Amino acid sequence: MNPGPGFASRILLARLARGGCAPTVLMYHGTPAGRTAPAPYSLHARHFRAHVEVFRRLNWPTRCLSELGTATAGPALYLTFDDGYRDNHTHAFPLLHAAGLCATWFVPSAHVGGRAAWEQLPPDQQALMSRSELLELADSGMEIGAHSRTHADLTRLSGARLDDETAGARQELEDLLGRPVLSFAYPYGGHTAQTVAAVAAAGYTAACTTRAGRVDPDDGPWRIRRITLKAGDDADALVRKLWLGANQACRRDVIANLWQRLGRGGIRRVGGLLARER
Ligand SMILES: [Zn+2]
Repeated sequence: MNPGPGFASRILLARLARGGCAPTVLMYHGTPAGRTAPAPYSLHARHFRAHVEVFRRLNWPTRCLSELGTATAGPALYLTFDDGYRDNHTHAFPLLHAAGLCATWFVPSAHVGGRAAWEQLPPDQQALMSRSELLELADSGMEIGAHSRTHADLTRLSGARLDDETAGARQELEDLLGRPVLSFAYPYGGHTAQTVAAVAAAGYTAACTTRAGRVDPDDGPWRIRRITLKAGDDADALVRKLWLGANQACRRDVIANLWQRLGRGGIRRVGGLLARER
């Protein structure tokens, strides 16, 4: 079963497709397809398939994260995957590639081809992509960014250890893949003035946090906000999150937001009519 967006979501999507939104970065983790329930921050592959249908209807351009600073105005979607799970290669990448969509993968350079031992994950959801799988993504136009070397909490590090996890990760990944690495995602979202400075000094042109919201130019290039997709987020949940630009997006929030917009629009329309009457 692969339910796409419902009737109400399709109406919201049609409105979103007409633009008027700031660029939006989405954050995914694993995309498993087995019988074991996905980990809290992973999404079952059948839901991801429905998400791709949402992206198709939305029809916003998708770009690699390193292009964010040079992008022209208007809505755009930046799809990001943290940790580099092998089930992304199996279940997400083929769908994105077939749909002509771009995405960015953030991988801890010391764990390429290994397992995500830092997370409490079911055994069948721990495997990470190998070098050849990452190269396959990169050769298809996807971006590979860094996610530190060892998935360390950077807020606990300083000096040489912080440099190793930022500049060292970039060097290791560039040596491994033979192509520039320009984007970074802070493990656990941990960004402080010190970690941001280290990431900037390492030469990354863009870095993602886990703060919720749409892209805000006031945040600068190294404190980019993202919207988190979690286990159980079906196509309708994705549409609500896109509509509100938030992580928490229940139906009641959407209705309240619509009511607010209708109120403002109604006041403008009445104001316009009154102006013409004068
Ligand atoms: Zn991570």
